[in-house]
Amino acid sequence: EKFSSNWRKAQREVAKLHQRIGNKRQDFINKVALDLSKKHAMIYREDLRIKNMTASAAGTVEEPGHNVAQKSGLNRAILDQAWGKFFQRLEWKCEQRGGQVIKVAPQYTSRICPICGYESKENRRSQASFKCMACGYRENADVVGARNIKVRGQRMSACGELGEVGRAQVNRRMETVHCAGQQQEPIEVISGVSH
Ligand SMILES: [Zn+2]
Repeated sequence: EKFSSNWRKAQREVAKLHQRIGNKRQDFINKVALDLSKKHAMIYREDLRIKNMTASAAGTVEEPGHNVAQKSGLNRAILDQAWGKFFQRLEWKCEQRGGQVIKVAPQYTSRICPICGYESKENRRSQASFKCMACGYRENADVVGARNIKVRGQRMSACGELGEVGRAQVNRRMETVHCAGQQQEPIEVISGVSH
């Protein structure tokens, strides 16, 4: 019965649970952000549209999402908030250590071949796997996305698209990256710069 004493008791229990989950999540976020900031001076990340991620739980007409109500509720309440908090924490931790987090436009990062530069929807046959229709390169789709984000980020750094402040902070080793304009030609990937 709503607003009964039992109902209030249950509500308090649920609130406590949420608090505990929140604390654990924050703890996890802090650890991952600290770890990444220790290991890398430059971090490139996709400029995620968090609102779009929430919307994706509903799926499409052809492919409706499963457990949509739970997922969109969960996304709204937890995941969106957690991503935002995580990036905030990561940026803060990296700045403290003299590192930098650079946001990269996410367009096509999951369907461009990092080897030959061929871009096609067909390259991405499933959520998990990538196979280039031009050169046959196969890789886990997340790895491909990460490689493309890194190259795009390095190109942004090298071409000065970050503006004066951003450029001044960019590690000198980045200067060896060639600018390829708008083309998606692969450039030599410099391995992660460590402290
Ligand atoms: Zn290819």
